[in-house]
Amino acid sequence: MKDQLLSFQKKPYLVKYRFYPFREYLKERFPYKVHKIPLHSGFTCPNRDGRSGVGGCTYCINESFSPNVTRHFLSIKEQIETGKAFHKQRYGAEKFIAYFQSFTNTYADLDTLKSRYEEALSDKDIVGISIGTRPDCIADDILSLIDGYAKKFHVWIEYGLQSIHDRTLKRINRGHDYKIFLDAINRTKKTCINICVHVILGLPGETAEDMMQTAEAIANMGIQGIKLHHLYVAKNTALAEEYFYGNVQTLDMDAYVQLTAGFLERIPSNVTVQRLVGDTHGNFLISPIWKASKAAIAGSITRELERRGAFQGSRCGMAASLMNCPDPFPVRNVQEHVSEEPKLHIIEI
Ligand code: SF4
Repeated sequence: MKDQLLSFQKKPYLVKYRFYPFREYLKERFPYKVHKIPLHSGFTCPNRDGRSGVGGCTYCINESFSPNVTRHFLSIKEQIETGKAFHKQRYGAEKFIAYFQSFTNTYADLDTLKSRYEEALSDKDIVGISIGTRPDCIADDILSLIDGYAKKFHVWIEYGLQSIHDRTLKRINRGHDYKIFLDAINRTKKTCINICVHVILGLPGETAEDMMQTAEAIANMGIQGIKLHHLYVAKNTALAEEYFYGNVQTLDMDAYVQLTAGFLERIPSNVTVQRLVGDTHGNFLISPIWKASKAAIAGSITRELERRGAFQGSRCGMAASLMNCPDPFPVRNVQEHVSEEPKLHIIEI
């Protein structure tokens, strides 16, 4: 505990936010403002086309969380130009990470993947790449291809896990089990690719204890990032049908804040938090309707951690191991850019 308190004092963002937001992580590495640009590569998903499963995950309607899906007729270059203009104008962003977000972005032959990724990386303002995929869709030659970019770029792979419990994965029709996920993580850890894991809180049939078990398992994986989502029910999904039959409930906001705080307490403080709440667009959402912005929810989680006298990693007792790779964007002097007095802030990540 003494070591934890010392490391807590050394990290101003833990004082300020009580967790490690991705934007602080980016500030540590880049002397300019970096934003992610979501991209649609034009691929589908093996859990929708029959290779791993049929019908997809029960909560999945990709259109609801990827607004760029509707722009899929644009080339990668065109999507990047559009994204750059938007993030520059709205947020003052200067450099960008190409985020292959929609569906399964390793689901194509090697040449096709190479040409899509490199179309993005050829833009002079792209400093990194982040590739969202399923753990059952990552062959070793694809890993090598992505690993090759890590010499010059900031490289992430994002694996959907959602839960470590096979009974839950079965119930939501994930089309893979926990063992497959562990195999993907172990193979990826042999590379210089940063790993981010996606988890959903509030999945059908899961207790708080189940979710905390997922947190504890992730804490020991040696990953670098995490994205947390709340379960939401969107129109045109299998989950919506279950919801209307009364077989699924969603969380109220306070319950989600409690669960997220507990989850973060169990995750090492040097694992960056890339997302704290799910994101659904416009008319697709059925439940829950919280009437709170993402920033307000993040602020509530910070306040809950503060109320507990806790912070990310305070119930974990360890730091995630660092990658032993040459880093094209090593951590800069933290004190240079985090100099504000510790106080609570409502933030958006
Ligand atoms: S893996 Fe992703 S894209 Fe595929 S069905 Fe599940 S949520 Fe949808």
